[in-house]
Amino acid sequence: MSHLTNLCCNEATGYVRTIGNELPRQGDSGMRILVIEDELRMLELLRQGLYESGFTVMTAADGEAGLGIAMNYDFDAIVLDIGLPKRDGFEVARTLRERKRNTPLLMLTARDAEDDIIRGLDLGADDYMTKPFSFPELVARLQSITRPLREEGSGRIEAGELVVDTVRHQAARGQVALDLTRTEFALLTCLARSSGQCVSRSALMECVWGPNPEVGAGALDVLVNALRSKVDAPFPRKLIGTVRGRGYMLKIEPKASGGRQP
Ligand code: CA
Repeated sequence: MSHLTNLCCNEATGYVRTIGNELPRQGDSGMRILVIEDELRMLELLRQGLYESGFTVMTAADGEAGLGIAMNYDFDAIVLDIGLPKRDGFEVARTLRERKRNTPLLMLTARDAEDDIIRGLDLGADDYMTKPFSFPELVARLQSITRPLREEGSGRIEAGELVVDTVRHQAARGQVALDLTRTEFALLTCLARSSGQCVSRSALMECVWGPNPEVGAGALDVLVNALRSKVDAPFPRKLIGTVRGRGYMLKIEPKASGGRQP
């Protein structure tokens, strides 16, 4: 615990200063992370460790303050504790998504109940880690959930009337723009890249959550349902098919502008 004590002694006032109103020190990677965590020693460990890993870090010690900062600044990712005063992590996640903030969210929690994890993912979290966690793994996961936003490529995938633009991070079905979370977008991108073919469950999970995903199999089904509610529910013809026991596939649909197929 000595390093914790040192941090506390050296930066005893840092907790207050860094909660939302200090310009953070610039990290090397150029990536900006917001950490929302009420346990101050954990918050300080995260702030220090992420800074040393090259991130620029801002912090908040309750859900209300964190939400305010998240709405007013742009971040590459948010590390979000679930048990928080004022607004818990679930409420912060839900409010961010309701207000169209699609910043990647990594939930950090002492709880590892599948229900909590599913609930967090259902509310739009991109990944989660349970405490205690290893710092290198946290950094790897932050890099993983921010990668789709950082990658610049040719970008445009067309599958029938569905268009996915991985550079602008936009998707549309016909003339209808689809408002997707990061994980929904990653899932749709993976399906669209192999449209007309079955994509295995494990390949989809890796697409969305990276190699060796810790999420249970149920998380993929939750995510597919969320994606269907946006891509398929408003339309008579359903594009996302289940290949029982194997995975999912995006059915190729002829473009509507060319007239209906018989
Ligand atoms: Ca907490």
